[in-house]
Amino acid sequence: MAEEKKVVRKKIAAAADVGKFMADYYLEIDKASKAGNPKIAWCTSVGPAEILRAMGFLVYFPETHSAMLGATRMATDLIPEANALGYSPEICSYLTADIGAFVKNITPLTKIYNIDSIPKPDVLVYNTNQCRDVQDWFNWYGEKFNVPSIGVYTHRNIGEVTEAHITSIAKQMEALVEPLEKVSGTKFELDALKEAVRLSRDCSDIWKQILDAAAAVPSPLTFFDGTTLMGPAVVGRGTQKTLDVYEILLAELKERVKNEEGAVDKENHRIYWDGMPVWGRLSAHSKLFAGLNANVIASTYCNSWIFSALDPEDPFNSMARAYTELFIVRSDDEKEKYIREMLEFFKIDGIIYHDAKTCPNNTNCRYGMAQRLSAVTEIPHLIINGDLNDLRMLSDEQTKTNVEAFIEQLDESS
Ligand code: SF4
Repeated sequence: MAEEKKVVRKKIAAAADVGKFMADYYLEIDKASKAGNPKIAWCTSVGPAEILRAMGFLVYFPETHSAMLGATRMATDLIPEANALGYSPEICSYLTADIGAFVKNITPLTKIYNIDSIPKPDVLVYNTNQCRDVQDWFNWYGEKFNVPSIGVYTHRNIGEVTEAHITSIAKQMEALVEPLEKVSGTKFELDALKEAVRLSRDCSDIWKQILDAAAAVPSPLTFFDGTTLMGPAVVGRGTQKTLDVYEILLAELKERVKNEEGAVDKENHRIYWDGMPVWGRLSAHSKLFAGLNANVIASTYCNSWIFSALDPEDPFNSMARAYTELFIVRSDDEKEKYIREMLEFFKIDGIIYHDAKTCPNNTNCRYGMAQRLSAVTEIPHLIINGDLNDLRMLSDEQTKTNVEAFIEQLDESS
């Protein structure tokens, strides 16, 4: 009988600090929710969080909660609850799992942090830069809690980002201030926004350095690590605490690079992941690739929280630019240009595209991009079918067989 291969993945010590950061974040917001003070704003993951921070709100991000529903494998059973309310099984399984959890009055926060429910919003603020689903999702809660749900409507499928785009988005962001003042009961201060934008830009810069550390050979980091380490970049951008925890993480990664310590044993292949993670299979996928001496080292997804255009001296315009220049907002031409740069920078020799059934917005392999990129770069690709949260949409056996065959193909061509 063949001996089972031992899979070696090197744990990141700073993951414990990131875990503590996330616990503190949820406990603080739970306390505020119970006390009714400070006020709580819900925000989309690439929404205008800096404006909310500047106005004194604690900011809660439902997408992160939904990712937890996925990672804890609670999501699949909850999705039908939202389907019964008229939200199709074909639409965002973040939305359907989250609404399903609310209807059932359950949350993974209970098991993880001993928190009995998600925080009550005083206002919900979205940006449709990522998709329309967030608007429907937030409006549903707006009605439930009888609080305002307001947003920014971003152009989609953009090639070059022009001044006309920026002006339109910046004006919409400025227009959020008045309704937010009504909710917060405080006056908007431009200096407070500049400070939040400064902190957010610093967060973006350090998060970029963390992800860029994976360019080292061997890579000190995996995409699967990145999906959980990115928590502070999503929920904490615009705060000093995020910078503090990322300093610890960056120092550890630099040390690893210096010592040539790879995150997986004998890194033979360096893989790029396009699309969302399968939250309920993070560990399984991490083991699958590591067991084949392949490291998934970089992704479009984790890089989505890099906002290099943020400029504290021009907060509204630079926020408009940063949140519009995002990968997910752009045309295929721009996306392909971006991925080609990533492939080169990270010295990639294989690409995985996750075709996520319920998120066409983060799926980039439905209109020939995978084939076009492989043709110009000569880097092979594999498309895997699955979903971010709905585990009924994937076959573990098929994923395993396809990934094994793909890595074998890379072995043969290297
Ligand atoms: S981008 Fe995709 S996963 Fe994210 S909220 Fe929109 S549909 Fe859902």
